[in-house]
Amino acid sequence: MHPVVDTIRSRLGDAAILTGEDVKARPVSRIVKSGCEAMAIVRPKTTEEVALVMRLCHEAGVPVVPRAGMTGLVGGSLVGPHEIALSLERMTAIEEIDPIAQTMTVQAGVPLQAIQEAAEAEGLLFPLDLGARGSATIGGNIATNAGGNKVLRYGMTREMVLGLEAVLPNGEIVSSMFKILKNNTGLDIKQLFIGTEGTLGIVTRAILRLQPAPRSRQTVLAACSSFAAVTDMLGYFRAASGGNLSSYEVMWLDYYLLLTAEGRHKPPLPQTFPFYVLVECEGADPETDDAAFEAMLEKAMEHGWIEDAVLARSEAERVQLWRIRDDVHYLLTLSPLFVYDISLPIPEMEGYVNNLRAELEARWPSPKPTVISYGHLGDGNLHIALSCGTAADKPAVNKLVYGPLAAFRGSVSAEHGIGVDKKPYLQITRSETEIAIMRAVKAALDPAGLLNPGKIV
Ligand SMILES: Cc1cc2nc3c(=O)[nH]c(=O)nc-3n(C[C@H](O)[C@H](O)[C@H](O)COP(=O)(O)OP(=O)(O)OC[C@H]3O[C@@H](n4cnc5c(N)ncnc54)[C@H](O)[C@@H]3O)c2cc1C
Repeated sequence: MHPVVDTIRSRLGDAAILTGEDVKARPVSRIVKSGCEAMAIVRPKTTEEVALVMRLCHEAGVPVVPRAGMTGLVGGSLVGPHEIALSLERMTAIEEIDPIAQTMTVQAGVPLQAIQEAAEAEGLLFPLDLGARGSATIGGNIATNAGGNKVLRYGMTREMVLGLEAVLPNGEIVSSMFKILKNNTGLDIKQLFIGTEGTLGIVTRAILRLQPAPRSRQTVLAACSSFAAVTDMLGYFRAASGGNLSSYEVMWLDYYLLLTAEGRHKPPLPQTFPFYVLVECEGADPETDDAAFEAMLEKAMEHGWIEDAVLARSEAERVQLWRIRDDVHYLLTLSPLFVYDISLPIPEMEGYVNNLRAELEARWPSPKPTVISYGHLGDGNLHIALSCGTAADKPAVNKLVYGPLAAFRGSVSAEHGIGVDKKPYLQITRSETEIAIMRAVKAALDPAGLLNPGKIV
Protein backbone atom coordinates (compact mmCIF):
# COMPACT_ATOMS: atom_id res chain seq x y z
CA MET A 1 0.00 0.00 0.00
CA HIS A 2 1.38 3.41 -0.97
CA PRO A 3 1.99 5.77 2.01
CA VAL A 4 -0.30 8.38 0.41
CA VAL A 5 -3.25 6.24 1.55
CA ASP A 6 -2.32 6.79 5.20
CA THR A 7 -1.73 10.47 4.56
CA ILE A 8 -5.21 10.80 3.03
CA ARG A 9 -6.71 8.87 5.96
CA SER A 10 -5.00 11.12 8.47
CA ARG A 11 -6.19 14.27 6.69
CA LEU A 12 -9.77 13.25 5.78
CA GLY A 13 -10.64 10.70 8.48
CA ASP A 14 -11.44 6.96 8.41
CA ALA A 15 -14.87 7.34 6.79
CA ALA A 16 -13.27 8.94 3.75
CA ILE A 17 -11.18 5.96 2.72
CA LEU A 18 -11.90 2.31 1.99
CA THR A 19 -9.20 -0.31 1.71
CA GLY A 20 -8.87 -4.12 1.64
CA GLU A 21 -12.12 -6.11 1.73
CA ASP A 22 -14.20 -2.91 1.60
CA VAL A 23 -12.65 -2.16 -1.78
CA LYS A 24 -13.03 -5.74 -3.04
CA ALA A 25 -16.74 -5.62 -2.19
CA ARG A 26 -17.13 -2.81 -4.73
CA PRO A 27 -17.82 -3.48 -8.44
CA VAL A 28 -15.13 -3.86 -11.08
CA SER A 29 -17.55 -2.73 -13.79
CA ARG A 30 -21.27 -2.51 -14.40
CA ILE A 31 -21.37 -6.27 -15.01
CA VAL A 32 -18.83 -7.58 -12.46
CA LYS A 33 -20.39 -6.60 -9.15
CA SER A 34 -17.40 -7.16 -6.83
CA GLY A 35 -13.64 -7.53 -6.86
CA CYS A 36 -12.59 -3.89 -7.38
CA GLU A 37 -8.79 -3.84 -7.56
CA ALA A 38 -8.13 -0.22 -6.57
CA MET A 39 -5.40 0.44 -4.01
CA ALA A 40 -8.06 2.40 -2.07
CA ILE A 41 -11.36 4.15 -2.65
CA VAL A 42 -11.37 7.75 -1.45
CA ARG A 43 -14.71 9.40 -0.63
CA PRO A 44 -14.28 13.14 -0.04
CA LYS A 45 -17.19 15.25 1.22
CA THR A 46 -16.29 18.67 -0.21
CA THR A 47 -14.56 20.21 -3.19
CA GLU A 48 -11.71 21.26 -0.88
CA GLU A 49 -11.26 17.62 0.18
CA VAL A 50 -11.22 16.53 -3.48
CA ALA A 51 -8.57 19.19 -4.12
CA LEU A 52 -6.50 17.97 -1.20
CA VAL A 53 -6.68 14.33 -2.37
CA MET A 54 -5.71 15.33 -5.90
CA ARG A 55 -2.79 17.41 -4.66
CA LEU A 56 -1.51 14.63 -2.39
CA CYS A 57 -1.79 12.03 -5.17
CA HIS A 58 -0.16 14.40 -7.63
CA GLU A 59 2.78 14.98 -5.29
CA ALA A 60 3.07 11.24 -4.65
CA GLY A 61 2.78 10.35 -8.35
CA VAL A 62 -0.23 8.08 -7.71
CA PRO A 63 -2.86 7.82 -10.47
CA VAL A 64 -6.51 8.62 -9.67
CA VAL A 65 -9.58 7.20 -11.41
CA PRO A 66 -12.97 8.89 -10.91
CA ARG A 67 -15.85 6.46 -10.41
CA ALA A 68 -19.50 7.30 -9.89
CA GLY A 69 -22.66 5.27 -10.53
CA MET A 70 -20.64 2.69 -12.51
CA THR A 71 -23.29 2.52 -15.23
CA GLY A 72 -20.85 3.59 -17.95
CA LEU A 73 -20.58 1.15 -20.82
CA VAL A 74 -17.04 1.62 -22.16
CA GLY A 75 -14.74 0.84 -19.22
CA GLY A 76 -14.15 4.53 -18.46
CA SER A 77 -13.87 3.94 -14.71
CA LEU A 78 -11.80 0.74 -14.73
CA VAL A 79 -9.18 1.01 -12.00
CA GLY A 80 -6.00 -0.99 -11.39
CA PRO A 81 -4.17 -2.05 -8.19
CA HIS A 82 -1.71 0.87 -8.32
CA GLU A 83 -4.45 3.46 -8.71
CA ILE A 84 -6.74 5.24 -6.26
CA ALA A 85 -10.44 5.35 -7.08
CA LEU A 86 -12.14 8.63 -6.28
CA SER A 87 -15.85 8.49 -5.56
CA LEU A 88 -18.12 11.46 -4.89
CA GLU A 89 -20.77 9.26 -3.24
CA ARG A 90 -20.72 11.51 -0.15
CA MET A 91 -21.16 14.67 -2.24
CA THR A 92 -24.89 14.40 -2.86
CA ALA A 93 -26.25 17.82 -1.91
CA ILE A 94 -28.77 19.68 -4.01
CA GLU A 95 -27.60 23.11 -2.95
CA GLU A 96 -30.14 25.40 -4.59
CA ILE A 97 -33.06 25.51 -6.99
CA ASP A 98 -33.51 28.97 -8.45
CA PRO A 99 -37.04 29.27 -9.88
CA ILE A 100 -36.35 32.59 -11.63
CA ALA A 101 -33.10 31.62 -13.35
CA GLN A 102 -34.51 28.06 -13.67
CA THR A 103 -31.30 26.50 -12.44
CA MET A 104 -30.29 23.82 -9.97
CA THR A 105 -26.93 23.85 -8.21
CA VAL A 106 -25.73 20.39 -7.24
CA GLN A 107 -22.75 18.44 -6.02
CA ALA A 108 -21.57 15.95 -8.59
CA GLY A 109 -22.49 12.79 -6.66
CA VAL A 110 -26.27 13.37 -6.87
CA PRO A 111 -28.05 10.55 -8.72
CA LEU A 112 -29.79 11.67 -11.91
CA GLN A 113 -33.21 10.51 -10.70
CA ALA A 114 -32.93 12.62 -7.52
CA ILE A 115 -32.27 15.68 -9.72
CA GLN A 116 -35.26 14.88 -11.93
CA GLU A 117 -37.49 14.49 -8.86
CA ALA A 118 -36.24 17.67 -7.20
CA ALA A 119 -36.94 19.64 -10.38
CA GLU A 120 -40.40 18.10 -10.69
CA ALA A 121 -41.24 19.05 -7.11
CA GLU A 122 -40.68 22.70 -8.12
CA GLY A 123 -42.81 22.41 -11.26
CA LEU A 124 -39.67 22.28 -13.42
CA LEU A 125 -37.97 19.71 -15.62
CA PHE A 126 -34.40 18.46 -15.84
CA PRO A 127 -34.72 16.86 -19.24
CA LEU A 128 -31.80 14.42 -19.18
CA ASP A 129 -33.30 10.95 -18.97
CA LEU A 130 -31.86 7.49 -19.47
CA GLY A 131 -32.52 3.91 -18.37
CA ALA A 132 -29.79 4.01 -15.69
CA ARG A 133 -31.31 7.12 -14.04
CA GLY A 134 -31.49 5.50 -10.58
CA SER A 135 -27.76 4.72 -10.33
CA ALA A 136 -26.02 7.14 -12.70
CA THR A 137 -24.89 10.41 -11.10
CA ILE A 138 -24.83 13.88 -12.56
CA GLY A 139 -21.01 13.88 -12.33
CA GLY A 140 -20.91 10.73 -14.46
CA ASN A 141 -23.51 12.19 -16.83
CA ILE A 142 -21.44 15.33 -17.28
CA ALA A 143 -18.17 13.41 -17.66
CA THR A 144 -19.75 11.27 -20.40
CA ASN A 145 -21.93 14.05 -21.91
CA ALA A 146 -24.81 11.59 -21.59
CA GLY A 147 -27.56 11.65 -24.21
CA GLY A 148 -30.64 9.57 -23.50
CA ASN A 149 -34.27 9.67 -24.44
CA LYS A 150 -34.94 13.37 -25.06
CA VAL A 151 -31.92 14.65 -26.98
CA LEU A 152 -34.13 15.32 -29.98
CA ARG A 153 -35.77 18.17 -28.10
CA TYR A 154 -33.42 19.27 -25.33
CA GLY A 155 -29.94 18.27 -26.54
CA MET A 156 -27.28 16.32 -24.69
CA THR A 157 -25.95 16.98 -21.18
CA ARG A 158 -23.61 19.61 -22.62
CA GLU A 159 -26.66 21.77 -23.41
CA MET A 160 -27.96 21.43 -19.85
CA VAL A 161 -24.88 22.63 -17.95
CA LEU A 162 -24.59 26.39 -17.36
CA GLY A 163 -21.88 26.31 -14.76
CA LEU A 164 -19.34 23.85 -13.52
CA GLU A 165 -16.65 23.42 -10.90
CA ALA A 166 -13.80 20.97 -11.33
CA VAL A 167 -10.57 19.98 -9.66
CA LEU A 168 -7.50 19.69 -11.85
CA PRO A 169 -5.06 16.78 -11.61
CA ASN A 170 -2.68 18.95 -9.54
CA GLY A 171 -5.40 19.81 -7.04
CA GLU A 172 -6.24 23.30 -8.32
CA ILE A 173 -9.94 24.19 -8.21
CA VAL A 174 -11.44 25.68 -11.40
CA SER A 175 -14.69 27.49 -10.78
CA SER A 176 -16.82 28.24 -13.79
CA MET A 177 -20.02 28.33 -11.72
CA PHE A 178 -22.15 30.68 -13.85
CA LYS A 179 -25.93 30.77 -13.96
CA ILE A 180 -25.95 32.92 -17.07
CA LEU A 181 -26.91 31.53 -20.47
CA LYS A 182 -24.83 33.96 -22.50
CA ASN A 183 -21.15 34.31 -21.72
CA ASN A 184 -18.95 35.02 -24.74
CA THR A 185 -15.73 35.66 -22.88
CA GLY A 186 -13.30 33.38 -24.66
CA LEU A 187 -12.79 29.64 -24.24
CA ASP A 188 -15.78 27.96 -22.60
CA ILE A 189 -13.74 26.31 -19.85
CA LYS A 190 -16.52 24.07 -18.56
CA GLN A 191 -16.61 22.21 -21.89
CA LEU A 192 -13.14 20.83 -21.11
CA PHE A 193 -14.73 18.64 -18.46
CA ILE A 194 -17.94 17.70 -20.30
CA GLY A 195 -17.65 14.47 -22.28
CA THR A 196 -13.94 14.01 -21.50
CA GLU A 197 -14.63 11.04 -19.20
CA GLY A 198 -12.73 12.26 -16.17
CA THR A 199 -9.41 12.57 -18.01
CA LEU A 200 -8.94 16.34 -17.51
CA GLY A 201 -10.45 17.03 -14.10
CA ILE A 202 -12.85 15.86 -11.40
CA VAL A 203 -16.27 17.47 -11.79
CA THR A 204 -17.31 18.47 -8.27
CA ARG A 205 -20.33 20.79 -8.66
CA ALA A 206 -22.55 22.02 -11.46
CA ILE A 207 -25.27 24.54 -12.21
CA LEU A 208 -27.88 22.81 -14.32
CA ARG A 209 -30.31 24.45 -16.69
CA LEU A 210 -33.92 23.51 -16.00
CA GLN A 211 -36.93 23.77 -18.28
CA PRO A 212 -40.60 24.39 -17.59
CA ALA A 213 -42.25 21.09 -16.68
CA PRO A 214 -44.48 19.80 -19.46
CA ARG A 215 -48.17 20.05 -18.63
CA SER A 216 -49.22 17.27 -20.97
CA ARG A 217 -47.56 14.18 -22.37
CA GLN A 218 -48.65 11.89 -25.18
CA THR A 219 -47.05 8.53 -25.90
CA VAL A 220 -47.73 6.01 -28.62
CA LEU A 221 -46.09 2.79 -29.75
CA ALA A 222 -46.55 2.58 -33.51
CA ALA A 223 -45.73 -0.29 -35.86
CA CYS A 224 -44.35 0.59 -39.31
CA SER A 225 -43.95 -1.66 -42.31
CA SER A 226 -40.92 0.06 -43.83
CA PHE A 227 -37.93 2.18 -42.84
CA ALA A 228 -39.10 4.86 -45.26
CA ALA A 229 -42.31 5.07 -43.21
CA VAL A 230 -40.23 5.46 -40.03
CA THR A 231 -38.20 8.36 -41.46
CA ASP A 232 -41.09 10.08 -43.23
CA MET A 233 -43.10 9.94 -40.03
CA LEU A 234 -40.17 11.46 -38.09
CA GLY A 235 -40.12 14.43 -40.46
CA TYR A 236 -43.88 14.78 -40.16
CA PHE A 237 -43.93 14.70 -36.33
CA ARG A 238 -41.07 17.17 -36.15
CA ALA A 239 -42.90 19.65 -38.32
CA ALA A 240 -46.45 19.07 -37.10
CA SER A 241 -45.87 18.88 -33.35
CA GLY A 242 -44.79 22.51 -33.06
CA GLY A 243 -41.60 21.56 -31.24
CA ASN A 244 -43.37 19.21 -28.80
CA LEU A 245 -41.72 16.02 -30.12
CA SER A 246 -39.41 14.86 -27.32
CA SER A 247 -38.64 11.20 -28.12
CA TYR A 248 -38.52 9.14 -31.27
CA GLU A 249 -37.18 5.73 -30.31
CA VAL A 250 -37.07 2.94 -32.88
CA MET A 251 -36.87 -0.80 -32.28
CA TRP A 252 -36.21 -3.20 -35.11
CA LEU A 253 -38.34 -6.38 -35.00
CA ASP A 254 -35.46 -8.43 -33.49
CA TYR A 255 -35.36 -6.13 -30.47
CA TYR A 256 -39.13 -6.19 -30.06
CA LEU A 257 -39.23 -9.99 -30.38
CA LEU A 258 -36.51 -10.48 -27.77
CA LEU A 259 -38.08 -8.09 -25.26
CA THR A 260 -41.63 -9.35 -25.68
CA ALA A 261 -40.79 -13.05 -25.85
CA GLU A 262 -41.11 -15.61 -23.06
CA GLY A 263 -43.29 -13.44 -20.87
CA ARG A 264 -40.67 -10.70 -20.32
CA HIS A 265 -43.03 -7.92 -21.44
CA LYS A 266 -46.53 -8.43 -22.81
CA PRO A 267 -46.40 -7.43 -26.50
CA PRO A 268 -48.70 -4.40 -26.88
CA LEU A 269 -48.69 -4.93 -30.67
CA PRO A 270 -48.38 -8.08 -32.80
CA GLN A 271 -44.80 -9.30 -33.27
CA THR A 272 -44.94 -9.11 -37.04
CA PHE A 273 -43.82 -5.64 -38.12
CA PRO A 274 -40.26 -4.75 -39.14
CA PHE A 275 -40.15 -1.55 -37.05
CA TYR A 276 -41.71 -0.26 -33.82
CA VAL A 277 -41.51 3.43 -32.95
CA LEU A 278 -42.05 4.90 -29.51
CA VAL A 279 -43.14 8.49 -30.08
CA GLU A 280 -43.56 10.96 -27.24
CA CYS A 281 -44.64 14.59 -27.25
CA GLU A 282 -44.54 16.96 -24.29
CA GLY A 283 -46.71 20.04 -24.38
CA ALA A 284 -47.95 23.01 -22.41
CA ASP A 285 -51.69 22.81 -23.06
CA PRO A 286 -53.48 19.87 -21.45
CA GLU A 287 -56.78 21.07 -22.98
CA THR A 288 -55.76 20.61 -26.58
CA ASP A 289 -52.51 18.60 -26.77
CA ASP A 290 -54.11 15.14 -26.62
CA ALA A 291 -56.49 15.92 -29.48
CA ALA A 292 -53.70 17.46 -31.55
CA PHE A 293 -51.53 14.37 -31.01
CA GLU A 294 -54.35 12.03 -31.99
CA ALA A 295 -54.95 14.11 -35.11
CA MET A 296 -51.26 13.68 -36.01
CA LEU A 297 -51.57 9.93 -35.50
CA GLU A 298 -54.61 9.80 -37.78
CA LYS A 299 -52.70 11.69 -40.46
CA ALA A 300 -49.75 9.29 -40.08
CA MET A 301 -52.14 6.39 -40.56
CA GLU A 302 -53.72 8.02 -43.61
CA HIS A 303 -50.22 8.37 -45.10
CA GLY A 304 -49.74 4.64 -44.53
CA TRP A 305 -46.78 5.18 -42.19
CA ILE A 306 -48.47 3.50 -39.22
CA GLU A 307 -49.81 -0.04 -39.59
CA ASP A 308 -50.95 -0.48 -36.01
CA ALA A 309 -50.59 1.53 -32.82
CA VAL A 310 -51.24 1.55 -29.10
CA LEU A 311 -51.73 4.89 -27.38
CA ALA A 312 -50.91 5.20 -23.68
CA ARG A 313 -54.11 6.22 -21.89
CA SER A 314 -52.54 6.53 -18.44
CA GLU A 315 -49.13 7.04 -16.81
CA ALA A 316 -49.08 3.29 -16.00
CA GLU A 317 -49.60 2.43 -19.67
CA ARG A 318 -46.92 4.91 -20.68
CA VAL A 319 -44.43 3.38 -18.23
CA GLN A 320 -45.30 -0.07 -19.61
CA LEU A 321 -44.46 1.02 -23.15
CA TRP A 322 -41.19 2.67 -22.06
CA ARG A 323 -40.18 -0.48 -20.13
CA ILE A 324 -39.89 -2.36 -23.41
CA ARG A 325 -37.48 0.26 -24.72
CA ASP A 326 -35.57 0.74 -21.46
CA ASP A 327 -35.15 -2.91 -20.45
CA VAL A 328 -31.79 -3.30 -22.16
CA HIS A 329 -30.53 -5.41 -19.23
CA TYR A 330 -32.33 -8.31 -20.86
CA LEU A 331 -29.75 -8.21 -23.65
CA LEU A 332 -27.34 -9.71 -21.12
CA THR A 333 -29.07 -13.06 -21.77
CA LEU A 334 -27.17 -13.14 -25.10
CA SER A 335 -23.75 -14.77 -25.06
CA PRO A 336 -21.30 -13.73 -26.29
CA LEU A 337 -22.67 -10.21 -26.30
CA PHE A 338 -21.11 -7.31 -28.20
CA VAL A 339 -22.82 -3.93 -27.79
CA TYR A 340 -22.41 -0.82 -29.91
CA ASP A 341 -23.56 2.78 -29.75
CA ILE A 342 -22.94 4.50 -33.06
CA SER A 343 -24.10 7.55 -35.01
CA LEU A 344 -24.71 7.75 -38.70
CA PRO A 345 -27.03 9.70 -40.98
CA ILE A 346 -30.58 8.44 -40.49
CA PRO A 347 -31.20 7.61 -44.20
CA GLU A 348 -28.15 5.27 -44.15
CA MET A 349 -29.28 3.23 -41.15
CA GLU A 350 -31.42 0.58 -42.77
CA GLY A 351 -28.81 -0.27 -45.42
CA TYR A 352 -26.06 -0.23 -42.79
CA VAL A 353 -27.89 -2.72 -40.56
CA ASN A 354 -28.77 -5.00 -43.51
CA ASN A 355 -25.17 -4.99 -44.79
CA LEU A 356 -23.81 -5.66 -41.33
CA ARG A 357 -26.17 -8.60 -40.89
CA ALA A 358 -25.14 -10.04 -44.28
CA GLU A 359 -21.44 -9.69 -43.45
CA LEU A 360 -21.86 -11.30 -40.05
CA GLU A 361 -23.84 -14.19 -41.52
CA ALA A 362 -21.19 -14.72 -44.19
CA ARG A 363 -18.45 -14.81 -41.55
CA TRP A 364 -20.32 -16.87 -38.91
CA PRO A 365 -22.89 -18.91 -40.89
CA SER A 366 -23.77 -21.27 -38.06
CA PRO A 367 -25.25 -20.67 -35.59
CA LYS A 368 -26.76 -17.67 -37.28
CA PRO A 369 -25.71 -14.34 -35.65
CA THR A 370 -28.26 -12.45 -33.58
CA VAL A 371 -28.47 -8.78 -34.59
CA ILE A 372 -30.56 -6.59 -32.31
CA SER A 373 -30.96 -2.98 -33.49
CA TYR A 374 -32.71 -0.18 -31.65
CA GLY A 375 -31.94 3.34 -30.59
CA HIS A 376 -32.57 7.05 -30.33
CA LEU A 377 -33.23 7.19 -34.06
CA GLY A 378 -34.44 10.77 -34.00
CA ASP A 379 -30.88 11.69 -32.95
CA GLY A 380 -29.19 9.54 -35.62
CA ASN A 381 -28.06 7.21 -32.83
CA LEU A 382 -28.22 3.46 -33.32
CA HIS A 383 -27.59 0.86 -30.62
CA ILE A 384 -26.69 -2.59 -31.86
CA ALA A 385 -26.35 -5.72 -29.74
CA LEU A 386 -24.72 -8.66 -31.50
CA SER A 387 -24.20 -12.27 -30.64
CA CYS A 388 -22.04 -14.38 -32.92
CA GLY A 389 -18.92 -16.53 -32.79
CA THR A 390 -17.10 -16.46 -29.46
CA ALA A 391 -15.90 -13.72 -27.13
CA ALA A 392 -12.51 -13.91 -28.87
CA ASP A 393 -14.14 -12.70 -32.09
CA LYS A 394 -14.79 -9.23 -30.66
CA PRO A 395 -12.01 -7.46 -32.63
CA ALA A 396 -13.28 -8.97 -35.89
CA VAL A 397 -16.87 -7.97 -35.08
CA ASN A 398 -15.73 -4.47 -34.07
CA LYS A 399 -14.07 -4.08 -37.46
CA LEU A 400 -17.28 -4.98 -39.29
CA VAL A 401 -19.35 -2.59 -37.14
CA TYR A 402 -16.99 0.39 -37.07
CA GLY A 403 -15.27 0.02 -40.44
CA PRO A 404 -18.09 1.44 -42.64
CA LEU A 405 -18.75 4.46 -40.37
CA ALA A 406 -15.87 6.57 -41.72
CA ALA A 407 -17.46 6.68 -45.18
CA PHE A 408 -20.70 8.03 -43.66
CA ARG A 409 -18.86 10.55 -41.42
CA GLY A 410 -20.46 8.64 -38.57
CA SER A 411 -19.27 8.17 -35.00
CA VAL A 412 -17.98 5.08 -33.16
CA SER A 413 -19.60 6.53 -30.06
CA ALA A 414 -22.86 8.44 -30.16
CA GLU A 415 -23.21 8.82 -26.41
CA HIS A 416 -21.39 6.22 -24.28
CA GLY A 417 -17.90 7.62 -24.86
CA ILE A 418 -14.55 6.01 -25.65
CA GLY A 419 -13.20 4.78 -22.29
CA VAL A 420 -10.85 1.88 -22.95
CA ASP A 421 -13.21 -0.21 -25.09
CA LYS A 422 -13.34 2.10 -28.11
CA LYS A 423 -9.86 3.58 -27.90
CA PRO A 424 -8.48 1.58 -30.86
CA TYR A 425 -11.30 2.91 -33.05
CA LEU A 426 -11.17 6.61 -32.19
CA GLN A 427 -9.34 7.41 -35.44
CA ILE A 428 -12.29 6.15 -37.47
CA THR A 429 -14.23 9.21 -36.31
CA ARG A 430 -11.53 11.72 -35.34
CA SER A 431 -8.72 12.98 -37.60
CA GLU A 432 -5.04 12.84 -36.64
CA THR A 433 -5.12 16.58 -36.01
CA GLU A 434 -8.13 16.30 -33.73
CA ILE A 435 -6.47 13.51 -31.74
CA ALA A 436 -3.26 15.56 -31.52
CA ILE A 437 -5.28 18.46 -30.05
CA MET A 438 -6.86 16.10 -27.50
CA ARG A 439 -3.38 14.89 -26.51
CA ALA A 440 -2.07 18.47 -26.26
CA VAL A 441 -4.94 19.51 -23.95
CA LYS A 442 -4.38 16.40 -21.81
CA ALA A 443 -0.66 17.15 -21.60
CA ALA A 444 -1.35 20.77 -20.62
CA LEU A 445 -3.72 19.89 -17.77
CA ASP A 446 -2.24 16.56 -16.70
CA PRO A 447 1.42 16.51 -17.78
CA ALA A 448 2.21 13.54 -15.55
CA GLY A 449 -0.75 11.55 -16.93
CA LEU A 450 -2.08 10.75 -13.46
CA LEU A 451 -5.82 11.32 -13.97
CA ASN A 452 -7.82 8.39 -15.35
CA PRO A 453 -4.80 7.14 -17.29
CA GLY A 454 -5.20 5.09 -20.44
CA LYS A 455 -8.72 6.33 -21.27
CA ILE A 456 -9.81 7.94 -24.59
CA VAL A 457 -6.31 8.64 -26.05
C1 LIG B 1 -29.46 0.55 -18.57
C2 LIG B 1 -28.54 1.62 -19.07
C3 LIG B 1 -29.03 2.59 -19.95
C4 LIG B 1 -28.19 3.60 -20.40
N1 LIG B 1 -28.69 4.51 -21.27
C5 LIG B 1 -27.90 5.52 -21.68
C6 LIG B 1 -28.42 6.51 -22.59
O1 LIG B 1 -29.58 6.44 -23.03
N2 LIG B 1 -27.61 7.52 -22.94
C7 LIG B 1 -26.31 7.62 -22.48
O2 LIG B 1 -25.61 8.59 -22.85
N3 LIG B 1 -25.79 6.69 -21.65
C8 LIG B 1 -26.54 5.66 -21.24
N4 LIG B 1 -26.03 4.71 -20.41
C9 LIG B 1 -24.61 4.82 -19.97
C10 LIG B 1 -24.41 5.49 -18.59
O3 LIG B 1 -25.56 5.47 -17.83
C11 LIG B 1 -23.92 6.92 -18.73
O4 LIG B 1 -22.64 6.89 -19.33
C12 LIG B 1 -23.82 7.70 -17.41
O5 LIG B 1 -23.71 9.07 -17.74
C13 LIG B 1 -22.66 7.30 -16.51
O6 LIG B 1 -22.85 7.85 -15.22
P1 LIG B 1 -22.23 7.15 -13.91
O7 LIG B 1 -22.51 8.02 -12.74
O8 LIG B 1 -22.69 5.74 -13.81
O9 LIG B 1 -20.66 7.20 -14.23
P2 LIG B 1 -19.56 6.04 -14.23
O10 LIG B 1 -20.00 4.90 -15.06
O11 LIG B 1 -19.16 5.71 -12.83
O12 LIG B 1 -18.35 6.80 -14.92
C14 LIG B 1 -18.42 7.13 -16.28
C15 LIG B 1 -17.20 7.96 -16.69
O13 LIG B 1 -17.23 9.23 -16.06
C16 LIG B 1 -16.08 9.45 -15.24
N5 LIG B 1 -16.56 10.16 -14.05
C17 LIG B 1 -17.55 9.78 -13.19
N6 LIG B 1 -17.76 10.74 -12.29
C18 LIG B 1 -16.91 11.76 -12.58
C19 LIG B 1 -16.68 13.04 -12.00
N7 LIG B 1 -17.33 13.48 -10.92
N8 LIG B 1 -15.72 13.82 -12.56
C20 LIG B 1 -15.01 13.41 -13.64
N9 LIG B 1 -15.21 12.21 -14.21
C21 LIG B 1 -16.15 11.40 -13.69
C22 LIG B 1 -15.52 8.05 -14.98
O14 LIG B 1 -14.12 8.09 -14.76
C23 LIG B 1 -15.86 7.35 -16.28
O15 LIG B 1 -14.91 7.65 -17.26
C24 LIG B 1 -26.83 3.66 -19.96
C25 LIG B 1 -26.34 2.68 -19.08
C26 LIG B 1 -27.18 1.68 -18.65
C27 LIG B 1 -26.61 0.66 -17.70
